[in-house]
Amino acid sequence: HAKRQGRNSFFWFEGVMADEMRFRNELEMGIRQGIPRGEFLPYYEQQIDLQTGELTGFEMLARWDSPHFGLVSPEIFIPVAEDIGAIAALSESVIRQALEDAKDWDPKLGLSVNISPVQLRDPWFAQKLLRMLVEANFPPHRLEIEITESCLHQNLPQARSLITSLKNQGIKVTLDDFGTGYSSLAQLRSLPFDRIKIDRSFVTSLIENKDNAAIVHAIAMLGKDLELPVTAEGIESSEVLKHLLQYGHIKGQGYLYGHPRPAGELSELLREHATSPIRSEPVAVAAP
Ligand code: C2E
Ligand code: MG
Ligand code: MG
Ligand code: MG
Repeated sequence: HAKRQGRNSFFWFEGVMADEMRFRNELEMGIRQGIPRGEFLPYYEQQIDLQTGELTGFEMLARWDSPHFGLVSPEIFIPVAEDIGAIAALSESVIRQALEDAKDWDPKLGLSVNISPVQLRDPWFAQKLLRMLVEANFPPHRLEIEITESCLHQNLPQARSLITSLKNQGIKVTLDDFGTGYSSLAQLRSLPFDRIKIDRSFVTSLIENKDNAAIVHAIAMLGKDLELPVTAEGIESSEVLKHLLQYGHIKGQGYLYGHPRPAGELSELLREHATSPIRSEPVAVAAP
């Protein structure tokens, strides 16, 4: 009896494997075809000076508008695009669109973009980026490149030379998801980052979780002492915002201010920014 059950679960397992492989193949094919078809779109999340409530810029977050799967999260398609060697083309496609979008905004507003460890290892990445900036006629000082902490430890020499060449071109470089990787504080100091972003896993729950509050506190103090500007990501409630205000001049982003939205849905926000750039109360925006 036990043997038959084992065999049944084997067949069940095999069925799941076949389904997963089919799903994976559909994803890979969809990504390859979707890039030239323009299915990868930039969405934008507001970045705010917490003390003044002022809009300071947007982080571009890629979305895949797939005819087959619907709107797909980057957490699904970025790792697959990396595996199949499509990440550079995908990233270039969304960055080009983002530069065009951001040209219409107040030139004081920044644009942050995320890059993958695969791009970090590309010795021509800084050149390619500079070329995109020139072709879009976009000022480098408005652009900020986000590098996640977790991709540093395996790529330290490449990271150092990339950060240096980006900075030589006037582009800012931010350490993303700080606190989740394995970089030592000495490494952090030795790489010339312009800003650190506290990972949202610490920020979102800092009211209920004392350990997370302690980590956020430590990173905020570190930023202050190293004179490294800090951004807190994942601010979902006004309680968390109030707590973060004790750290003075830090930036923040999160669902309290708004979910990522396509460029076409930013006009009201940009108008508001143009007429009254300073507002003290955050405006909670409903989920789209
Ligand atoms: P990230 O750079 O850390 O971006 C922040 C993520 O947190 C975004 O998820 C954003 O939608 C989400 N988020 C923002 N505020 C809140 C909040 O208050 N609460 C919660 N629970 N979540 C919040 P998203 O858009 O799914 O992006 C996930 C990750 O995918 C990004 O993490 C980034 O590392 C990566 N990614 C996005 N676009 C690109 C891209 O064009 N290229 C590369 N290489 N990676 C990208
Ligand atoms: Mg980011
Ligand atoms: Mg982040
Ligand atoms: Mg994060």
